[in-house]
Amino acid sequence: MRHAANVYERLGCRTIINAAGPSTRVSGGIMAAEVADAMREASQHCVDMAELHAHAATVIAEATGAESGLVTTGAAAGLLLGTAACLTGLDPAKMNRLPDTSGMKNEVVMVRSQRNFYDHAVRTAGVRLVEVGLPDRFSGAGVRDAEAWEIGAAIGERTAMVFYVAQPNALPPLPAVVAAAHKAGVPVLVDAAAQLPPVENLRRFIAEGADLVVFSGGKAIGGPQASGILCGRRDLIAAAALQTLDLDIPYDMWFPPSSFIDKSKLAGLPHHGIGRACKVGKEEIIGLVAALQRFAGMTAEARSRPWFVLCEALIMAAAGPRHAKLDVVVDPKRPGVPAVELRLDGDADITLARLLQKLHDGEPSIRPNLGRLADGALLFSPMCMKPGEPEIIGRELLRHLGRARGAVPRPHIGRRVR
Ligand SMILES: *Cc1c(COP(=O)(O)O)cnc(C)c1O
Repeated sequence: MRHAANVYERLGCRTIINAAGPSTRVSGGIMAAEVADAMREASQHCVDMAELHAHAATVIAEATGAESGLVTTGAAAGLLLGTAACLTGLDPAKMNRLPDTSGMKNEVVMVRSQRNFYDHAVRTAGVRLVEVGLPDRFSGAGVRDAEAWEIGAAIGERTAMVFYVAQPNALPPLPAVVAAAHKAGVPVLVDAAAQLPPVENLRRFIAEGADLVVFSGGKAIGGPQASGILCGRRDLIAAAALQTLDLDIPYDMWFPPSSFIDKSKLAGLPHHGIGRACKVGKEEIIGLVAALQRFAGMTAEARSRPWFVLCEALIMAAAGPRHAKLDVVVDPKRPGVPAVELRLDGDADITLARLLQKLHDGEPSIRPNLGRLADGALLFSPMCMKPGEPEIIGRELLRHLGRARGAVPRPHIGRRVR
């Protein structure tokens, strides 16, 4: 019998050790106490939502260098709202019609190799994706991917937006994509959901000319699991906000701060918009703002030191496994984000899939990161681990793998670049 039941256990729901990182599937991360406290405090007062959004917008603008910003229920919601804003601008009649886009500019150009499961959120606004470029890798001889001129060539009369998914090795480079889009007067929306840290990326994509950028609030920023940021041009953020706010009020009786939404630019107030289904609450807005201020104010060293400490604790705790090797690995393109990589050797009598199942079925249940599974490795991310958990993971790994014969329980602290 376990004691000290927490709110989940009182419900009969077990908690897990999250070594996957802040994935939605494993409930995001662990919120800092000051962020959780801010949300609790937020829940004890009422505010005017447009006014609260306007204040959050100034914090987002300061952190990102954008003109304005909107707290959303996640990066995916930001993709939907950002796309909707590019489709409608400040036209309330168009807002009312979404996702029916017949007769509107309704094509979104994107690089074919950047297609991913999250682009469903873009398509939800009612657009057709126009894929560009050929990631010519399959033959083994190819070296090219989409090029900026191809984006320019794909933009036509029906193009409402160019959609770009940021990654350290995304091609073509964003500034070239922005140049091609802006030459045709088309805005660029960037999905940078998981591109933090480094903290510099909060400003980078706006500085490179993106009209709108989306970040997840529930990943490295450390905000509520269901929060995100859409930042960018003031008119587009106003258009996005108008499509998620509760507008069950006559035009003459609604007084949003003009810095956030300039009512005088509107022919009238739209109905509840396409984004009403992903409304954000005051608690999420306050939590996101608190987390963003904390994240932006932290040095890279302060952020990643505890992660390295957790990784090294795991290496120590799992020292000497049979037919397996553990290393702290760091992606050179994301130097502040370490993980522990586990590889089995050829003599192992367990597969990674079987090990994964044993970890899943254990007490407590342990969830590694599967991002490198195809490459023959399990990763243990420290981003959502708590102190004490590396020791439990190490104990469970040794229990399932066994200890190598003659292995002295001495740590091998190797750090290598993956
Ligand atoms: C995580 C992620 C999203 C979705 O973020 P949420 O905040 O969970 O909605 C979108 N795009 C990419 C590339 C992501 O990694």
